[in-house]
Amino acid sequence: MMYDQILIRFGDLTLKGKNQKEFLKRLYALIHLKLKDFQVTIENTHDRVYIHLNQEDPQKILKQLQYVSGISSYSLVVRCDLDLPQIKTTALHLMKELVTTPMTFKVETKRANKEFPLTSMEVTRQVAGYVLANHSDLKVDVHRPQVTLHLEIKGNSCYLYNFEYKALGGYPVGVAGKGLLMLSGGIDSPVAGFLAMKQGIEIECIHFESTPLTSIESAQKVVDLVKKLAGYSATDQIVLHLVPFKEIHMELLDKVPESYNITIMRRMMYRIADLLAKKRHCLCLINGESVGQVASQTLQSMVTINSVTNLPVLRPLCTYDKVDIIKLSTQIDCYELSIRPFEDCCTVYVPKAPATAPKIDKAEEYEKAFDYESLIEKAVSETKRITIDKDSDLDLTGLGLEVREVLKEN
Ligand code: ATP
Ligand code: MG
Repeated sequence: MMYDQILIRFGDLTLKGKNQKEFLKRLYALIHLKLKDFQVTIENTHDRVYIHLNQEDPQKILKQLQYVSGISSYSLVVRCDLDLPQIKTTALHLMKELVTTPMTFKVETKRANKEFPLTSMEVTRQVAGYVLANHSDLKVDVHRPQVTLHLEIKGNSCYLYNFEYKALGGYPVGVAGKGLLMLSGGIDSPVAGFLAMKQGIEIECIHFESTPLTSIESAQKVVDLVKKLAGYSATDQIVLHLVPFKEIHMELLDKVPESYNITIMRRMMYRIADLLAKKRHCLCLINGESVGQVASQTLQSMVTINSVTNLPVLRPLCTYDKVDIIKLSTQIDCYELSIRPFEDCCTVYVPKAPATAPKIDKAEEYEKAFDYESLIEKAVSETKRITIDKDSDLDLTGLGLEVREVLKEN
């Protein structure tokens, strides 16, 4: 096709002053990063970005733009000078390329440059008239056209395009600060992390691993999920904290009444996440909890689990249906990984009758049965921090069973 640029539109530019500057700075940087391997020219303006394709394959560029949060939509466009005869011939050329069988069309003009002597209506009429007279397959239908030719008059250019594709939306990742994602190997938490990033939150991830109770493959799965999420980050990397959870896990299975196992396990996770978040300057926790899917996710249960932290806990999926979560999981290419059949600490041991309405005071009482504070301290001090690149080839499975031994050198 003759399209030679990609026009990128931003989301919410109702943002004012300093916020808007920060938004743009991050968005430009993000676009540059995701397109760094292409010979394109990127033209930043205050309300648009134009990517000059310089013969690069537009499909490859569009694919990369799917990783940029803060873009609301984009179009493949062809640019010409602000000169009516040129606009007419470019329009005809474009429509000849696009339409080769009988079809209805209309022209729609937007004129941001009010100095251009013709009104939008006049431009539309002139261009449509010229295209119609020279293209035998086209008929006008202004109400339900099969194809629309958009003309946008801006500065000293006219941009012509036919389609507008929806992009991620949201805000450039990082603009909202940093949060700590509690990442399991399941379907939900990677999606929760993606949604948080799309909303402008940079993330680090924390995973509680119980090797050798659980297999090394289940830790590898988490590494692979982090790689997928790293494609959306502002650095192409994400920091993963691997917390050795086996001891706490065993202790509580041994010491805590069965019906409170899950509640207390999750309180331990929240406590550790809270400590780590504060150490790493994360302003919130993020997880994949939803309301009412399982016993640990009733509202009463959330109250009891949440009470161990004073950080905001974001649950981007709390109102989502599973089918919608799966759709998003597929969209971000995590689904196939998430359904790989390796157990995590939550599936190693599932109590027969978990409390659906656990109480804070009871949980506190049961927790007295073991010295969890020193266990937590130990787990935090033995936590391994790994920076994972979107193209990382980190392979834990080749290295042996004890993840924490394996990662000591990291
Ligand atoms: P997921 O599909 O994300 O595993 P889930 O529906 O299976 O979620 P739970 O297993 O109850 O729900 O976990 C709820 C949330 O707690 C997860 O979405 C995740 O954010 C966090 N979580 C659970 N297990 C772990 C773990 N081993 N490490 C880190 N976070 C975890
Ligand atoms: Mg799970």
